[in-house]
Amino acid sequence: MRSGRALNAAGLIPADRVGEADSVARRYAVAVTPQIANLIDRGAADDPLARQYLPDMRELTRTPEERDDPIGDDARSPLPGVVHRYPDRVLLMPTTACPVYCRFCFRRERVGHGATTMSAAEIDEALAYISARPEIREAILTGGDPMILSPRRLGDILRRVAAIETVEVLRIHSRVPVADPGRIDDAAVAALRQRIPVYVSIHCNHPRELDGEAARAIAALADAGVPLLGQTVLLKGVNDDAETLEALFRALVRHRVRPYYLHHPDPAPGTAHFRLSIEEGQALVRALRGRISGLCQPTYVIDIPGGYGKVPVGPSFRDEDGALRDWRGAVHRDAAG
Ligand SMILES: *Cc1c(COP(=O)(O)O)cnc(C)c1O
Ligand code: SF4
Repeated sequence: MRSGRALNAAGLIPADRVGEADSVARRYAVAVTPQIANLIDRGAADDPLARQYLPDMRELTRTPEERDDPIGDDARSPLPGVVHRYPDRVLLMPTTACPVYCRFCFRRERVGHGATTMSAAEIDEALAYISARPEIREAILTGGDPMILSPRRLGDILRRVAAIETVEVLRIHSRVPVADPGRIDDAAVAALRQRIPVYVSIHCNHPRELDGEAARAIAALADAGVPLLGQTVLLKGVNDDAETLEALFRALVRHRVRPYYLHHPDPAPGTAHFRLSIEEGQALVRALRGRISGLCQPTYVIDIPGGYGKVPVGPSFRDEDGALRDWRGAVHRDAAG
Protein backbone atom coordinates (compact mmCIF):
# COMPACT_ATOMS: atom_id res chain seq x y z
CA MET A 1 0.00 0.00 0.00
CA ARG A 2 1.64 3.19 -1.19
CA SER A 3 -1.13 5.73 -1.74
CA GLY A 4 -3.80 7.40 0.36
CA ARG A 5 -6.46 5.54 -1.59
CA ALA A 6 -4.84 2.15 -0.94
CA LEU A 7 -4.44 2.92 2.76
CA ASN A 8 -8.09 3.94 2.92
CA ALA A 9 -9.23 0.82 1.05
CA ALA A 10 -7.34 -1.27 3.65
CA GLY A 11 -9.18 0.55 6.43
CA LEU A 12 -5.98 2.14 7.73
CA ILE A 13 -7.00 5.78 7.26
CA PRO A 14 -10.40 7.43 6.95
CA ALA A 15 -11.56 8.84 3.61
CA ASP A 16 -11.07 12.42 4.77
CA ARG A 17 -7.33 11.82 5.25
CA VAL A 18 -6.61 10.45 1.78
CA GLY A 19 -5.58 13.86 0.41
CA GLU A 20 -3.26 14.54 3.33
CA ALA A 21 -1.70 11.10 3.06
CA ASP A 22 -1.03 11.67 -0.64
CA SER A 23 0.60 15.03 -0.08
CA VAL A 24 2.94 13.49 2.50
CA ALA A 25 3.57 10.49 0.21
CA ARG A 26 4.62 12.80 -2.62
CA ARG A 27 7.40 14.14 -0.38
CA TYR A 28 8.41 10.95 1.48
CA ALA A 29 7.63 7.51 0.11
CA VAL A 30 4.96 5.44 1.86
CA ALA A 31 4.86 1.65 1.88
CA VAL A 32 2.90 -0.62 4.20
CA THR A 33 3.16 -4.39 3.79
CA PRO A 34 0.22 -6.74 4.46
CA GLN A 35 2.03 -8.01 7.57
CA ILE A 36 2.25 -4.52 9.07
CA ALA A 37 -1.29 -3.62 7.94
CA ASN A 38 -2.55 -6.65 9.88
CA LEU A 39 -0.78 -5.51 13.03
CA ILE A 40 -2.06 -1.93 13.00
CA ASP A 41 -4.89 -1.45 15.46
CA ARG A 42 -7.49 0.35 13.37
CA GLY A 43 -9.57 1.29 16.39
CA ALA A 44 -6.84 2.97 18.45
CA ALA A 45 -6.46 6.74 18.21
CA ASP A 46 -2.67 6.77 18.50
CA ASP A 47 -1.58 3.26 17.71
CA PRO A 48 2.23 2.90 18.01
CA LEU A 49 2.37 0.86 14.80
CA ALA A 50 0.22 3.31 12.85
CA ARG A 51 2.50 6.09 14.05
CA GLN A 52 5.60 4.36 12.70
CA TYR A 53 4.26 3.55 9.25
CA LEU A 54 1.31 5.77 8.26
CA PRO A 55 1.95 9.23 6.78
CA ASP A 56 1.32 12.24 9.01
CA MET A 57 1.00 15.91 8.07
CA ARG A 58 3.58 16.83 10.72
CA GLU A 59 6.23 15.31 8.44
CA LEU A 60 5.91 18.35 6.19
CA THR A 61 7.09 20.67 8.99
CA ARG A 62 10.81 21.10 9.17
CA THR A 63 12.60 22.43 12.27
CA PRO A 64 15.92 24.33 12.28
CA GLU A 65 18.01 21.51 13.78
CA GLU A 66 16.90 18.99 11.15
CA ARG A 67 19.27 17.96 8.35
CA ASP A 68 18.89 16.07 5.08
CA ASP A 69 21.85 13.88 6.01
CA PRO A 70 21.63 13.79 9.82
CA ILE A 71 24.40 11.28 10.48
CA GLY A 72 26.75 12.67 7.82
CA ASP A 73 26.91 9.67 5.48
CA ASP A 74 27.86 11.88 2.53
CA ALA A 75 30.96 13.26 4.21
CA ARG A 76 32.23 9.71 4.73
CA SER A 77 31.29 8.21 1.38
CA PRO A 78 34.36 7.51 -0.77
CA LEU A 79 32.31 5.75 -3.50
CA PRO A 80 28.62 5.34 -4.38
CA GLY A 81 27.02 2.89 -1.92
CA VAL A 82 29.99 2.91 0.47
CA VAL A 83 30.25 4.75 3.81
CA HIS A 84 33.55 4.40 5.66
CA ARG A 85 33.65 6.16 9.02
CA TYR A 86 35.64 3.81 11.26
CA PRO A 87 38.89 2.16 10.15
CA ASP A 88 37.79 -1.42 10.85
CA ARG A 89 34.28 -1.44 9.37
CA VAL A 90 32.53 -0.25 6.27
CA LEU A 91 28.90 0.17 5.25
CA LEU A 92 27.67 -1.10 1.90
CA MET A 93 24.29 0.02 0.61
CA PRO A 94 23.39 -2.32 -2.24
CA THR A 95 19.92 -0.76 -2.42
CA THR A 96 18.24 2.15 -0.69
CA ALA A 97 14.72 0.73 -1.14
CA CYS A 98 12.85 -0.75 1.85
CA PRO A 99 9.83 -3.03 2.33
CA VAL A 100 8.17 -0.32 4.46
CA TYR A 101 9.03 3.34 4.90
CA CYS A 102 9.40 4.29 8.54
CA ARG A 103 8.11 7.82 9.06
CA PHE A 104 11.14 8.68 11.24
CA CYS A 105 13.74 7.24 8.85
CA PHE A 106 17.19 8.77 9.35
CA ARG A 107 18.01 8.30 5.65
CA ARG A 108 14.63 9.43 4.35
CA GLU A 109 16.14 11.78 1.77
CA ARG A 110 17.86 8.88 0.04
CA VAL A 111 15.55 5.91 0.64
CA GLY A 112 12.09 5.75 -0.93
CA HIS A 113 11.70 8.25 -3.77
CA GLY A 114 15.45 8.74 -3.99
CA ALA A 115 16.12 4.99 -3.86
CA THR A 116 19.02 3.67 -5.88
CA THR A 117 20.48 0.21 -6.41
CA MET A 118 24.20 -0.25 -6.88
CA SER A 119 25.17 -1.24 -10.41
CA ALA A 120 27.43 -4.22 -11.08
CA ALA A 121 30.31 -1.81 -11.74
CA GLU A 122 29.68 0.03 -8.46
CA ILE A 123 29.68 -3.27 -6.56
CA ASP A 124 33.00 -4.17 -8.24
CA GLU A 125 34.47 -0.84 -7.18
CA ALA A 126 33.23 -1.24 -3.60
CA LEU A 127 34.79 -4.72 -3.41
CA ALA A 128 38.07 -3.37 -4.77
CA TYR A 129 37.96 -0.61 -2.13
CA ILE A 130 37.55 -3.19 0.66
CA SER A 131 40.20 -5.52 -0.80
CA ALA A 132 42.71 -2.68 -0.88
CA ARG A 133 42.18 -1.92 2.84
CA PRO A 134 43.12 -4.88 5.02
CA GLU A 135 42.18 -2.88 8.14
CA ILE A 136 38.51 -3.43 7.21
CA ARG A 137 37.46 -6.45 9.27
CA GLU A 138 33.69 -6.09 9.07
CA ALA A 139 31.34 -5.20 6.22
CA ILE A 140 27.84 -4.07 7.12
CA LEU A 141 25.12 -4.28 4.50
CA THR A 142 22.50 -1.63 5.10
CA GLY A 143 20.55 0.85 3.04
CA GLY A 144 17.68 0.74 2.55
CA ASP A 145 17.13 -2.89 3.27
CA PRO A 146 19.53 -5.45 1.74
CA MET A 147 17.05 -8.28 2.40
CA ILE A 148 14.65 -7.02 -0.26
CA LEU A 149 17.21 -8.15 -2.83
CA SER A 150 16.58 -11.61 -4.24
CA PRO A 151 18.40 -14.33 -2.26
CA ARG A 152 20.52 -14.92 -5.36
CA ARG A 153 21.71 -11.31 -5.54
CA LEU A 154 22.16 -10.95 -1.80
CA GLY A 155 24.02 -14.27 -1.59
CA ASP A 156 26.24 -13.22 -4.47
CA ILE A 157 27.25 -9.95 -2.80
CA LEU A 158 27.84 -11.68 0.56
CA ARG A 159 29.93 -14.37 -1.09
CA ARG A 160 32.09 -11.85 -2.90
CA VAL A 161 32.72 -9.81 0.26
CA ALA A 162 33.38 -12.98 2.26
CA ALA A 163 35.96 -14.00 -0.34
CA ILE A 164 38.12 -11.03 0.67
CA GLU A 165 40.53 -12.70 3.08
CA THR A 166 40.88 -9.77 5.45
CA VAL A 167 37.12 -9.48 6.08
CA GLU A 168 36.21 -11.52 9.16
CA VAL A 169 32.57 -10.69 9.79
CA LEU A 170 29.53 -9.65 7.77
CA ARG A 171 26.49 -7.91 9.17
CA ILE A 172 23.11 -7.10 7.63
CA HIS A 173 20.75 -4.46 8.99
CA SER A 174 17.17 -5.32 8.08
CA ARG A 175 13.53 -4.62 8.79
CA VAL A 176 12.42 -7.53 6.57
CA PRO A 177 11.99 -10.18 9.33
CA VAL A 178 9.48 -7.83 10.98
CA ALA A 179 7.97 -5.95 8.05
CA ASP A 180 7.93 -8.53 5.27
CA PRO A 181 8.65 -11.88 6.94
CA GLY A 182 7.45 -13.91 3.96
CA ARG A 183 10.75 -13.07 2.28
CA ILE A 184 12.63 -15.17 4.84
CA ASP A 185 12.33 -18.46 3.00
CA ASP A 186 14.78 -21.33 2.61
CA ALA A 187 16.66 -19.57 -0.19
CA ALA A 188 17.04 -16.37 1.86
CA VAL A 189 18.33 -18.33 4.86
CA ALA A 190 20.74 -20.31 2.66
CA ALA A 191 22.14 -17.04 1.24
CA LEU A 192 23.38 -16.16 4.74
CA ARG A 193 25.59 -19.24 4.98
CA GLN A 194 29.06 -18.00 4.07
CA ARG A 195 32.74 -18.60 4.76
CA ILE A 196 32.53 -16.07 7.62
CA PRO A 197 29.69 -15.35 10.08
CA VAL A 198 26.79 -13.20 8.86
CA TYR A 199 25.11 -11.40 11.74
CA VAL A 200 21.61 -10.07 11.14
CA SER A 201 20.53 -7.01 13.08
CA ILE A 202 16.74 -6.74 13.11
CA HIS A 203 15.15 -3.29 13.33
CA CYS A 204 12.19 -3.62 15.73
CA ASN A 205 10.62 -0.87 17.83
CA HIS A 206 7.53 -2.34 19.42
CA PRO A 207 6.70 -5.75 20.93
CA ARG A 208 3.63 -6.08 18.69
CA GLU A 209 5.90 -6.01 15.64
CA LEU A 210 6.97 -9.53 16.64
CA ASP A 211 3.45 -10.90 16.42
CA GLY A 212 2.26 -13.04 13.54
CA GLU A 213 4.61 -14.15 10.79
CA ALA A 214 7.65 -12.31 12.18
CA ALA A 215 8.11 -14.95 14.86
CA ARG A 216 8.38 -17.69 12.24
CA ALA A 217 10.86 -15.72 10.14
CA ILE A 218 13.08 -14.98 13.14
CA ALA A 219 12.94 -18.61 14.27
CA ALA A 220 14.01 -19.74 10.79
CA LEU A 221 17.07 -17.49 11.00
CA ALA A 222 17.91 -18.56 14.55
CA ASP A 223 17.43 -22.27 13.72
CA ALA A 224 19.91 -21.86 10.85
CA GLY A 225 22.47 -20.57 13.35
CA VAL A 226 22.41 -16.94 12.20
CA PRO A 227 23.47 -14.71 15.12
CA LEU A 228 20.66 -12.20 15.66
CA LEU A 229 20.85 -8.69 17.09
CA GLY A 230 18.10 -6.17 17.77
CA GLN A 231 18.18 -2.50 16.88
CA THR A 232 15.54 -0.19 18.28
CA VAL A 233 14.89 3.49 17.68
CA LEU A 234 13.59 5.30 20.75
CA LEU A 235 10.48 7.12 19.52
CA LYS A 236 8.00 9.40 21.20
CA GLY A 237 4.52 7.91 21.15
CA VAL A 238 5.82 4.51 20.03
CA ASN A 239 8.05 3.07 22.73
CA ASP A 240 8.97 5.94 25.09
CA ASP A 241 7.78 4.25 28.27
CA ALA A 242 9.51 1.68 30.45
CA GLU A 243 6.70 -0.91 30.14
CA THR A 244 6.86 -0.98 26.34
CA LEU A 245 10.67 -1.12 26.23
CA GLU A 246 10.69 -3.86 28.85
CA ALA A 247 8.16 -5.91 26.88
CA LEU A 248 10.07 -5.34 23.64
CA PHE A 249 13.50 -6.34 24.94
CA ARG A 250 12.11 -9.37 26.76
CA ALA A 251 10.30 -10.46 23.62
CA LEU A 252 13.43 -10.04 21.49
CA VAL A 253 15.46 -12.20 23.87
CA ARG A 254 12.69 -14.81 23.92
CA HIS A 255 12.94 -14.89 20.13
CA ARG A 256 16.74 -15.40 20.38
CA VAL A 257 17.51 -11.81 19.36
CA ARG A 258 20.05 -9.99 21.54
CA PRO A 259 19.17 -6.27 21.87
CA TYR A 260 22.22 -4.42 20.58
CA TYR A 261 21.48 -0.71 20.20
CA LEU A 262 18.75 1.62 21.39
CA HIS A 263 19.15 4.58 19.03
CA HIS A 264 18.34 8.10 20.07
CA PRO A 265 16.27 9.46 17.14
CA ASP A 266 18.27 11.34 14.49
CA PRO A 267 17.21 14.85 13.41
CA ALA A 268 15.89 13.78 9.99
CA PRO A 269 13.56 16.26 8.25
CA GLY A 270 9.94 16.29 9.45
CA THR A 271 10.48 14.00 12.42
CA ALA A 272 10.28 16.43 15.39
CA HIS A 273 7.09 14.72 16.64
CA PHE A 274 9.13 11.54 17.24
CA ARG A 275 11.99 13.10 19.18
CA LEU A 276 12.50 13.21 22.92
CA SER A 277 15.42 14.58 24.90
CA ILE A 278 18.50 12.59 25.85
CA GLU A 279 17.55 13.18 29.51
CA GLU A 280 14.19 11.52 28.91
CA GLY A 281 15.95 8.63 27.18
CA GLN A 282 18.39 8.25 30.06
CA ALA A 283 15.55 8.16 32.59
CA LEU A 284 13.96 5.29 30.64
CA VAL A 285 17.21 3.36 30.41
CA ARG A 286 17.81 3.89 34.13
CA ALA A 287 14.34 2.53 34.89
CA LEU A 288 15.12 -0.62 32.91
CA ARG A 289 18.32 -1.43 34.82
CA GLY A 290 16.67 -3.29 37.67
CA ARG A 291 13.62 -4.46 35.72
CA ILE A 292 15.16 -6.66 33.05
CA SER A 293 18.25 -8.83 32.85
CA GLY A 294 21.51 -7.67 31.33
CA LEU A 295 20.77 -9.88 28.35
CA CYS A 296 17.78 -7.64 27.61
CA GLN A 297 19.68 -4.33 27.82
CA PRO A 298 20.85 -2.66 24.61
CA THR A 299 23.40 0.17 24.59
CA TYR A 300 21.72 3.56 24.33
CA VAL A 301 23.56 5.45 21.56
CA ILE A 302 23.36 8.64 19.58
CA ASP A 303 24.86 9.13 16.15
CA ILE A 304 26.56 12.51 16.51
CA PRO A 305 24.98 14.78 13.87
CA GLY A 306 27.45 15.63 11.13
CA GLY A 307 29.13 12.25 10.70
CA TYR A 308 31.25 11.77 13.82
CA GLY A 309 29.97 8.31 14.67
CA LYS A 310 27.89 6.68 17.39
CA VAL A 311 28.59 7.18 21.07
CA PRO A 312 26.87 5.69 24.13
CA VAL A 313 24.75 8.19 26.02
CA GLY A 314 23.38 5.84 28.65
CA PRO A 315 22.83 7.20 32.15
CA SER A 316 25.78 7.02 34.50
CA PHE A 317 25.39 5.06 37.71
CA ARG A 318 28.45 6.77 39.16
CA ASP A 319 28.06 10.32 40.53
CA GLU A 320 30.67 13.06 40.02
CA ASP A 321 32.01 12.45 43.54
CA GLY A 322 32.48 8.74 42.84
CA ALA A 323 29.41 7.46 44.69
CA LEU A 324 27.65 4.52 43.04
CA ARG A 325 23.91 4.49 42.59
CA ASP A 326 22.11 1.13 42.56
CA TRP A 327 19.12 0.27 40.41
CA ARG A 328 16.73 1.37 43.16
CA GLY A 329 18.42 4.80 43.29
CA ALA A 330 20.17 4.29 46.63
CA VAL A 331 23.63 5.90 46.84
CA HIS A 332 26.67 3.93 48.03
CA ARG A 333 29.72 6.04 48.90
CA ASP A 334 32.08 3.61 50.63
CA ALA A 335 31.73 1.00 47.90
CA ALA A 336 33.17 3.31 45.25
CA GLY A 337 36.80 3.29 44.26
C1 LIG B 1 26.51 2.68 12.60
C2 LIG B 1 27.64 2.61 11.68
C3 LIG B 1 28.55 1.55 11.74
C4 LIG B 1 28.40 0.41 12.70
O1 LIG B 1 28.73 0.82 13.99
P1 LIG B 1 28.75 -0.25 15.17
O2 LIG B 1 28.94 0.62 16.37
O3 LIG B 1 29.91 -1.16 14.90
O4 LIG B 1 27.45 -0.97 15.15
C5 LIG B 1 29.61 1.55 10.87
N1 LIG B 1 29.80 2.53 9.98
C6 LIG B 1 28.94 3.58 9.91
C7 LIG B 1 29.21 4.62 8.89
C8 LIG B 1 27.83 3.65 10.76
O5 LIG B 1 26.98 4.68 10.64
S1 SF4 C 1 13.81 0.26 7.43
FE1 SF4 C 1 15.50 1.64 8.04
S2 SF4 C 1 16.20 2.56 6.11
FE2 SF4 C 1 14.19 1.66 5.70
S3 SF4 C 1 12.69 3.31 6.04
FE3 SF4 C 1 12.90 2.22 8.00
S4 SF4 C 1 14.50 3.34 9.13
FE4 SF4 C 1 14.66 3.93 6.94
